[in-house]
Amino acid sequence: MVVLLKNNPDPKQMENLTNWFHSMGLNTHVSVGEQQTIIGLIGDTSRVDMDVIRALDIVEDVKRIQEPFKNANRKFHPDDTVIDVAGHKIGGGNFQVIAGPCSVESEEQIIGVAKAVKASGATILRGGAFKPRTSPYAFQGLHGKGINLLLEAKRITGMPIITEIMDAATLPLFEDVDIIQVGARNMQNFELLKQLGTIRKPVLLKRGLANTLQELLMSAEYIMAGGNEQVILCERGIRTFETYTRNTLDLSAIPVLRSLTHLPIVVDPSHATGAAYLVKPLAVAAAVAGADGLIVEVHNDPAHALCDGPQSLTPAAFDDMMKRLQKVLPYAVRD
Ligand code: PEP
Ligand code: MN
Repeated sequence: MVVLLKNNPDPKQMENLTNWFHSMGLNTHVSVGEQQTIIGLIGDTSRVDMDVIRALDIVEDVKRIQEPFKNANRKFHPDDTVIDVAGHKIGGGNFQVIAGPCSVESEEQIIGVAKAVKASGATILRGGAFKPRTSPYAFQGLHGKGINLLLEAKRITGMPIITEIMDAATLPLFEDVDIIQVGARNMQNFELLKQLGTIRKPVLLKRGLANTLQELLMSAEYIMAGGNEQVILCERGIRTFETYTRNTLDLSAIPVLRSLTHLPIVVDPSHATGAAYLVKPLAVAAAVAGADGLIVEVHNDPAHALCDGPQSLTPAAFDDMMKRLQKVLPYAVRD
């Protein structure tokens, strides 16, 4: 349920109202927007008498929310959420490109790629240290050493870093990581999501291989229900019957999510396609369809990458993609 307040509500009356809701066992979420202040009610609202609330002096209207996601719902928070990552804003018309290798492999590799993608305009560095591989015999990542190498790249280039978590027990290693990534395979690892709700750091939540957008939003809700409101959603392709691409990029996810939620939406054209030659066209398409950013895999030597080489761009191909993006971003459809 949302309570829409009249313009410039009296702070004392607002406090009395929220206290009253709390006394009914409800949690409240106040969103002070440019146009309107909204009190979102979370909990069992079945016994709340909407007419009584509507009759109050400071209240303009009261509406029930049908969707099961509340904190992530645009009806709770009409303005776009803008997430600030070390001075780089994502959301609300701010577009950022996250780039780097699938996995951190060596100091030379991560620092070389970081410098190259930064020179082309990427603002956030990616690199996996804990890798969710289909085969237990495949490279599993450098773990703590990988995070230390990312931190070294951050120190040298000044770029904030994003890396994937697979187990909440490793959370202390992520202390100086700027964005924690939850991979597609862990989108419904609810215990992990609850743990990430207890911290105050941005989380990039990837859509699962076969999950609906509502399920993605319910997973975001798990993190937000714990009080961590800094969630970035990521569309990275879903499983379909098509085999020429690793996954099928669901571009409609961008406007659909934009209508349902205030959270920033980032697109991963690398995992969506699995092929380097498809990354540029889909990156451009995602930007024009209104994404708030991209996360792209770049490797200095894709042929010898320990993970996801076929979908990794060379620094030169990444630079070319960035130039094309600059041309199309003014035409992005965000309304
Ligand atoms: C990754 O970002 O390298 C990754 C494993 O992505 P996803 O979870 O989308 O497969
Ligand atoms: Mn990868």
